[in-house]
Amino acid sequence: MLSPLDMFAIGIGPSSSHTVGPMKAGLEFALKLERAGLLEQVVHVQAHLYGSLALTGAGHGTFLAVVNGLAGQHPKTIDPDTIYSRVDEIKSSGQLKLGGKKFVRFDYDKDLFIHKDQFLPEHANGMRFSAFDQNGKLVMEEEYFSIGGGFILDKQQIVNRKDNEGACSERVNVPYPFTSAKELLEHCGAHNLTIAELVLANEAVTRSRDEVYAEAMEIANVMHYSTLRGLKQEGILPGGLNVKRRAPHLYQKLIDKDLNLVSEQDRRLLAMTYAIAVNEENAAFSRVVTAPTNGSAGTIPGVLEYYRNFYLGVSDDNIVEFILTAGAIGNLYKYGASISAAEVGCQGEIGVACSMAAGALTAVLGGNVLQVEKAAEIAMEHCLGMTCDPIEGLVQIPCIERNGVAASKAIDIAKLALLEDEAGKVSLDAVIHTMMETGRDMSNRYKETALAGLAVNVVAC
Ligand code: SF4
Repeated sequence: MLSPLDMFAIGIGPSSSHTVGPMKAGLEFALKLERAGLLEQVVHVQAHLYGSLALTGAGHGTFLAVVNGLAGQHPKTIDPDTIYSRVDEIKSSGQLKLGGKKFVRFDYDKDLFIHKDQFLPEHANGMRFSAFDQNGKLVMEEEYFSIGGGFILDKQQIVNRKDNEGACSERVNVPYPFTSAKELLEHCGAHNLTIAELVLANEAVTRSRDEVYAEAMEIANVMHYSTLRGLKQEGILPGGLNVKRRAPHLYQKLIDKDLNLVSEQDRRLLAMTYAIAVNEENAAFSRVVTAPTNGSAGTIPGVLEYYRNFYLGVSDDNIVEFILTAGAIGNLYKYGASISAAEVGCQGEIGVACSMAAGALTAVLGGNVLQVEKAAEIAMEHCLGMTCDPIEGLVQIPCIERNGVAASKAIDIAKLALLEDEAGKVSLDAVIHTMMETGRDMSNRYKETALAGLAVNVVAC
């Protein structure tokens, strides 16, 4: 069963599916060679990128990510300042240090294949890696798929994915297994638990409460630091679109007075600014947390920062409750739909982030589990159909501002849900199912391919 904390991976920008996943895939291929004892035979490697990774890979940093991954780097630990320089070195030397262990031949221009007109049948974000010995004989070849949120699957795993990534087969391992909101709410109701308490009970099967708290606080702290850093960084974002960072300027305008005196309207604007700050960091290849993806990395930190700054007495317990509740809601989308824009459009990124944030804020503001479910449902209901059409394939326009809008929306929705006493006509499960169907019906041109929408109607300059 997924852990709610799996929804939050500490890594680098700008895209969980197009940067984090491909870097992990490149590293996993190198590690697989090493585990099989084949690393010593390898003298040459090649990488192939298909579908959405090929179409928008340049803007998403996919090519840099794959090469850094093959060279032994992991998104959580890589120094963001070395991403470009390592690739420059590989380009000039014609070799990379496979898995960080052994130099092998890799001609960046000839050994990195970008198949813009081919999709692997299993998923829109496909990769193939090949390793050869000194006679040119194939030593190992593997396919990987980046399915959103930084998660990767190999060919066997994606074929077996129908079992909800192992959720069903491992349900017996936790006291309160759930793959739907209905199951989650039934457990909470029957045992008088909040969602966060239920998550803690499930996590206790494999680790201590202190370990769960430490991981949740690490996630919250990285979110906090990326917010603070983004509020200070000026300049133009990389990628060639000439997008100027706005967060520092917006922040200065809004905090011209004591934070305690800031109006509720300006607090909402600050939440938007926090979210924008994080996504500007994401666009700049800085350290962020997928929440649940990189493209949507700002929404949840924006709402969490708003909560920390404008509510009295916020404790670590409250912050952990926020993170665990948000993660449990995110799990429902992983089980019932998708968080991959290449599968369901931006509903799966910003829509899910808004849903997670609205539900989590409702919980820490004292909402009961039905109000939490209602907030999560309302948030997704009004993101249904949201397309992914980033200009130039860069996670900048509309992505950065969209996180700000989603953060503000989540705050309003939480406050609305807290006023509601009765269940609505639409359940969270129904809206998750609808999101998945809507995504399936959506043209591929609106699913992280940069072939339609704003991507073709706005002139990049
Ligand atoms: S438009 Fe949405 S889904 Fe597409 S890259 Fe931007 S944030 Fe991600």
